[in-house]
Amino acid sequence: MIIEHLKLYNTQTRKKEKIVPKDGKTIRIYTCGPTIYDFAHIGNLRAYIFEDLLRRSLIYFGFSVTQVMNITDIDDKTLKGAINKNVSLLEFTEPFRQAFFEDLMTLNIEKAEFYPKATQYIEHMLDIIIKLVDKKIAYKGVDGSIYFSIDKFKDYGKLSHLDLKSLKQGASKRVSTDEYEKENVSDFVLWKAYVEKRDGDIYWNSPFGKGRPGWHIECSAMALKLLGSNIDIHCGGVDNIFPHHENEIAQSESFTHETFVLHWAHAEHLIVDGKKMSKSLGNFYTLRDLTTMGYSGRDIRYMLLQTHYKTQLNFTFESLKAAKASVQRILDFVDRLKSIKDENENNLVEDIIKKEKNLFIEAIADDLNISSALSAIFDLIREINHLIDDKKISKKEALKTLKFLKETDSVLGFIFLEEKEKIPKVVEEAFEKRKDARKNKNFALADELRDLILDHGYIIEDLPDGARLKKK
Ligand code: AMP
Ligand code: ZN
Repeated sequence: MIIEHLKLYNTQTRKKEKIVPKDGKTIRIYTCGPTIYDFAHIGNLRAYIFEDLLRRSLIYFGFSVTQVMNITDIDDKTLKGAINKNVSLLEFTEPFRQAFFEDLMTLNIEKAEFYPKATQYIEHMLDIIIKLVDKKIAYKGVDGSIYFSIDKFKDYGKLSHLDLKSLKQGASKRVSTDEYEKENVSDFVLWKAYVEKRDGDIYWNSPFGKGRPGWHIECSAMALKLLGSNIDIHCGGVDNIFPHHENEIAQSESFTHETFVLHWAHAEHLIVDGKKMSKSLGNFYTLRDLTTMGYSGRDIRYMLLQTHYKTQLNFTFESLKAAKASVQRILDFVDRLKSIKDENENNLVEDIIKKEKNLFIEAIADDLNISSALSAIFDLIREINHLIDDKKISKKEALKTLKFLKETDSVLGFIFLEEKEKIPKVVEEAFEKRKDARKNKNFALADELRDLILDHGYIIEDLPDGARLKKK
């Protein structure tokens, strides 16, 4: 079933627009990925959670998706890190790439189809730069680097709605750093000429001499190579709008003469005390910081997911604790449903599911309105909990409710995680032996087996309808 009315805010047109795949079936998404010079902080992860929600929602609505998330292993920060540590770029970045994938697993973020690294696409970057130089859209600066001339691209500023005239006064002509502010709107670097003292032995050869690509051209090259032009959706955090995405458009469209991206979607920042969470301000937490404190991936996922992506999310430990409590409420409800054994049908559940399902779908279709979608889930829990209290729900109806929750969890991704975790064999065996021991009234053995299970991180819940294993 394809629900054709999924609407998403487009940064460029400043309107919510219907998502329709250009090729009629597959939505091609490019998402700016991590710069692997350190562990990701939970601000970065908020952007990836938003992209995961978008991806899962599109699939829920029946679309197929091809997603590319680049891995930035060449930029000012990765080079500096490798040189400071006196190791190769690969040795420096690889542990952070691995850690990034671990973070995605912890947060139950679905895998993209492609994770290209910048170092694997230098040739394609050079193809673009060479053509732009040939067309005189790019030029060699006095420092030997190649710059993109923004005057040669008449649409420059169309994404971030820049008033170029007012910004250009006083701005320097060229900027060679990867990141800069709007006040410095100027020609940006495509190929950074090698400087021995700064770059050590990290460089690539090119027709313009030794050097390395600028950060912006990396994404254009990987996006065009893997997805082509007219990309259905391009995502990132709001800090990517300018200059990164503006520059991506300028380079790509000057190269292809086609529209680069049809729909731009940006997630707002995660903030702490009113300021963007960032490495440079030192006000950040990594996922590891929070899991070490005892919060689970699903608690953190819920916390990052629950606020609409276009609203700033203020991180506090109170909000994380509240997230944990909300998750627990849902999990308790799931347990309750699983324990229902009654065979008598009351025919009260179907209408509740139908109503809340419609509300859930409508909410997600409206620019991923996650708070309304979660409200639908909590309303359903409240209503069905009343039915359970009054013993007005059958086993069959409980299973229908679980089926509904499973469907919604293909979008939410934090309810049915444990079922994917494989219980270790020794725990399962001990659990079965304990059942027999209790049946035979060998309580000493049963207690020993319970302790063994506990040592492996599981607890046994003795419920009226039998015992159950649960993660500690
Ligand atoms: P970086 O590794 O700095 O290139 O950032 C990777 C992604 O995280 C980009 O999409 C950024 O826009 C996003 N990002 C960085 N800081 C934050 C923050 N505090 N809140 C939300 N997203 C962020
Ligand atoms: Zn990018």
